[in-house]
Amino acid sequence: MTFDARAALLAKRAETTQRLKGLDESFADIVESVRDSNLDDEHDPEGSTVAVSRAQVASLAQEGREQLREIEAALRRLDDGAYGTCARCGGPIGDARLEARPTATLCIGCAQQENASPRR
Ligand SMILES: [Zn+2]
Repeated sequence: MTFDARAALLAKRAETTQRLKGLDESFADIVESVRDSNLDDEHDPEGSTVAVSRAQVASLAQEGREQLREIEAALRRLDDGAYGTCARCGGPIGDARLEARPTATLCIGCAQQENASPRR
């Protein structure tokens, strides 16, 4: 392996954790702004904007948590020596692909097949 996968994963984990923390804070801010605005009309356009941004923040947070799980799994594979090996064909995933996507579990060929034919 020509690049430092562990360093890349740890950096990604720190970044994702930081982003999740920011999302938690903006979620709290949104809740706060709803309380402050004292809306008594649920059809108020401001009210629905708040609902939309809350949903957006929630789905971003969900995405971030999934990413964190992938990163943790990749770090575990690094520890047990399975990192960089395709989970499907057992071949090498390849440095270029891992560098672009350090959490990849499939080689490019298997990933394409996986996308082309949905699992039954
Ligand atoms: Zn493969």
